Formats: sequence, structure tokens, C-alpha cells
Amino acid sequence: MLLHSIKELRELRKNWRGLKVGLVPTMGALHEGHLSLIKKAKETCDKVVVSVFVNPIQFGPAEDYDKYPRTLDNDTVLCEKEGVDIVFAPTPDEMYGSGNRLSNDTLTYVCPPFFYVNKLCGKTRVGHFDGVCTVVLKLFNIVQPDYAFFGQKDAQQVVIVKKMVKDLNVPVEIIQCPIVREESGLALSSRNKYLSDEGKQKALALSKILNNIKSCYKRGITDIKGLKETAYNFLTEDYELEYLEILDKNTLEEQEYADNNSIVLIACRVENVRLIDNIYLED
Ligand code: AMP
Repeated sequence: MLLHSIKELRELRKNWRGLKVGLVPTMGALHEGHLSLIKKAKETCDKVVVSVFVNPIQFGPAEDYDKYPRTLDNDTVLCEKEGVDIVFAPTPDEMYGSGNRLSNDTLTYVCPPFFYVNKLCGKTRVGHFDGVCTVVLKLFNIVQPDYAFFGQKDAQQVVIVKKMVKDLNVPVEIIQCPIVREESGLALSSRNKYLSDEGKQKALALSKILNNIKSCYKRGITDIKGLKETAYNFLTEDYELEYLEILDKNTLEEQEYADNNSIVLIACRVENVRLIDNIYLED
């Protein structure tokens, strides 16, 4: 069932007392990556809500909010096929009130700690994780799920959401699901739609770099500088590398040497499309 209003969702939610409720927050343009989260939610929970909301406050002024793909009809069909109970697709006015200027001047925002935000995607996407945490906490308050499902694809996001849930005592368990990839290795993303065929070929460099670093680690190289240097064989001037980091996967702290808690994260632009990917050095 497709719902747009918070009130209707709350009404239906009242009938689910005593049942395990799962939430899968998305921005829509659903693909197999999203569907893997939905499948996991269906396995774990009695009732599943998928939210489809392109959240304006997590986009910077020069980012792709306006052109972000919106395919709600198709998303709803896919969710119905998976047995989703509610697709919740509010408008920005429904979420943030009509006439409100969308800023932390006028609205209450959730600000995750600087330590977690001032690195990786947060460094260039200033305010992004405030927007993410704000909308995610609002969705938690609206849906009141027992479990919420997030993809490792957005690894920094999962760490930050877990931290918010812990720090603010939100009664929900965060379940992280593995990255779904094309056979080529390219991590699925709604933004892959912006790439030409040639761009998709170029984008394979991200997963190749990650896999190469992992195989070097498996061969015994743990020096982080040395591991990072292996990436430069794959990156020509066509790629605008934004970051390549090897950090502790749970805390996002820097490490001197890679170990079984390490995650390698990369962001780069291909055809001006910002792509991110990551890999654990030990599964
Ligand atoms: P988005 O619609 O991009 O905000 O993504 C919604 C959720 O789907 C987030 O938790 C993402 O991490 C997750 N997700 C996106 N792409 C993938 C993927 N390729 N594999 C697994 N999860 C994904």
C-alpha cells in the first residue's frame, strides 16, 4: 500500500502492536541493492515499511537534488512484488512542514559528532550527515520500527546512524546488509543511471582498486601508505579521486597498519558523477 501522509501511516502502525516492524529507508529509484535490504527485512520482520523520500536537506546547493531519479510508480510495483506492507512516500512539505525554510535556522536538526562527519563523504558534502540523521530519526519516530536496514554501500552513513541510535537511545536495531554489485564488480547505485556505457566501464576502477588493495593485504602488506599506492596503477587523469582511505570499520579511526577491522573506502568522479564504494579487508 502506498501512503503519503504521516497520519495515515501512524493509524496503520497502531494495528501492528506486538509485531516486529522493519523499516528500509531509501531515496527510491530502487535497484537490486535496495531489494536486498527489503528481502532481509522481510526475513527478519512481520511487517515491512519502505520509505521513498528524496530528502532535500541532505543535498548541498550544488548537488543533484533536482535531477535525482524519481521512479515512484516502478518502486511501488517492485515493493509490492517483494511483499512490502507499506511504501511511505511523503512530500518534503509533509516531512518538514509547508512554508518552512529548510535550514537549521528554523528547524530542529540532528548533528552527528564532528569526528565522524569531518572525513570521507562528510568532508566535501558539508551538512549531508546532519540531513541524513535528521530524516532518519524522523522516520524512526514516524514508523517506530524494531529494525532498520541500511547498506554497507554507504558505510560512513551506517556508522553514523548507529552512533546516533546509541547516543540518543533510539529503540531500534540497525542491520547492515552487504553491497550488491553488477557482475562486473560495479556497486549498484541509483546514480549509475547518469553514466554512459563508457563511464560505466571507467567506473569499474573503483571496485578494481578495492579488490587489489584487499589482495595485497591478503599477501601480507599492511602498511597503509603502501596499500594506498597500489591504487595509482588504476587511476588515470580521467578520474577525479576525492578520497581513498583505510580506517577502522567500526569507529572510522585512522590506523597505522591495516588489520582485520579495516575498511577501504573510495570516492571518485567519473563523467562528473560522484561514485562511492568500499570493501572490508576481512569479511
Ligand atoms: P539510497 O536510496 O541511495 O539512499 O539508498 C538506500 C539504502 O540502500 C541505503 O541504506 C544504501 O546503503 C542501500 N544501498 C544502496 N545501494 C546499495 C547496494 N549496491 N548494495 C546494498 N545496499 C545498497
